[in-house]
Amino acid sequence: MANIDYPIEGSCQCGQVTYKLHEAPTMVLACHCTECQKIATGPFSVTAVIASSAIEFSGELKEWSRTAESGNKSNVKFCPNCGNRIYHFNPEDLSTVKLKLKPVNLADDEVFKPTAHIWVCEKLSWYQIPEGVKVIDRQP
Ligand SMILES: [Zn+2]
Ligand SMILES: [Zn+2]
Repeated sequence: MANIDYPIEGSCQCGQVTYKLHEAPTMVLACHCTECQKIATGPFSVTAVIASSAIEFSGELKEWSRTAESGNKSNVKFCPNCGNRIYHFNPEDLSTVKLKLKPVNLADDEVFKPTAHIWVCEKLSWYQIPEGVKVIDRQP
């Protein structure tokens, strides 16, 4: 991976919510579960797992919450103006956030390159997973 100059910045579609990322994500996952297909309106979602201390958000965020199949709570923060999902977090574990913002407008798009593909058991038939990444049937 090339050297990346932190912080890097990103925003939602309308620009109301912005973020500043100070460190590389600890993990980047491509999730093929049906729930993520809905979120992404595409074949999979890309989620960067980031230490809460490594990212700053600004702008107004709204929140909703759902209980996942595992029983874990997943709270979602989104932009009330354009509706973009910004991140998910577990209210019982605030050490990390799961950034959902699309990897756009970055000087180096390798930051959000998935290192593992998960829930491949629900993958769409026409999508081919690239070579050299970890492939996990369900949850890692
Ligand atoms: Zn927005
Ligand atoms: Zn998923």
